[in-house]
Amino acid sequence: MVIILKENADSHQLENLISWLREQNLKVHMSEGVKQTIMGLIGDTTAVDIDMLKALDIVEDIKRIQEPFKNANRKFHPLDTVVNVGEAFIGSDELVLIAGPCSVESREQICSVAKSVKASGAKLLRGGAFKPRTSPYAFQGLRENGLELLLEAKKETGLPIVSEIMDLSQLRLFENVDIIQVGARNMQNYELLKELGRTNKPVLLKRGLSSTLSELVLSAEYIMTGGNEQVILCERGIRTFETSARNTLDLSAVPILRGMTHLPVLVDPSHSTGISKLVLPMSLAATAAGANGLIIEVHNDPPHALCDGQQSLTPEMFDDVARRVFAIKPFSYSFHS
Ligand code: PEP
Ligand code: MN
Repeated sequence: MVIILKENADSHQLENLISWLREQNLKVHMSEGVKQTIMGLIGDTTAVDIDMLKALDIVEDIKRIQEPFKNANRKFHPLDTVVNVGEAFIGSDELVLIAGPCSVESREQICSVAKSVKASGAKLLRGGAFKPRTSPYAFQGLRENGLELLLEAKKETGLPIVSEIMDLSQLRLFENVDIIQVGARNMQNYELLKELGRTNKPVLLKRGLSSTLSELVLSAEYIMTGGNEQVILCERGIRTFETSARNTLDLSAVPILRGMTHLPVLVDPSHSTGISKLVLPMSLAATAAGANGLIIEVHNDPPHALCDGQQSLTPEMFDDVARRVFAIKPFSYSFHS
């Protein structure tokens, strides 16, 4: 349920109302917008007397929320959430590019990719240290050492870093990682999500391979109910009957999620297509559809990459993608217009 307050509501009456709602075992979430202040109520509101609330001087309107997600709901929080990391404002009007290799492979590799993607306009560096590979015989990542190399690349370039956590036990190693990624395979690892909700780190939450958008948002809700509101959603392609690309990029997810929630929405054109030649057209399309940013795999030597070389761009290809997406950004769809 949300309570929309009248402009300039009396602060004493407001405090009384909040205390009364808390006595009813409801959690009160305040959201101050430009025009309106909204109180989101979390908990069992079935016994709340709506007519009594509506009659209060300070109340403009009351709405029941049908959706099962509250904290992530746009109705609770009409303004966009903006996650600030380094120089990036993810969720604002800027298009944020996150780029880097699928996996960190060596100091030379990660530092050289970091420098080139930064020169092309990327604001964050990605790199997997713990890799969720389909085959147990495939390269599993450099683990702790991979995170250390990422930190060295951060020191050299100043780019904040994004890396994937696969298990709760790894959390202590992520202290200096700027954004913790939860991969598609872990989107419904609820214990992990709850623990991340108790941290104050931004979380990049990728859509599960066969998850609906509502399931994705409910996973974000798990993080947010713990108190961590810095959640970034990512559409990375889903499983369909189509086999000509690695996955099917569901671009309608972008405007749908922007309407359902106030959280930033990124698109991953690399994992959604699995083919480097498709990354440019899908990056342009995602930008046009209103994505807040793109996360793109870039490798200094894609044919010899230890993971996902077929979908990785060379630094030159990334530079071209970056120039083109920045060029079309002013013409892209905006949720607010
Ligand atoms: C990745 O970003 O490296 C990754 C494994 O992505 P996803 O979880 O979307 O497959
Ligand atoms: Mn990858």
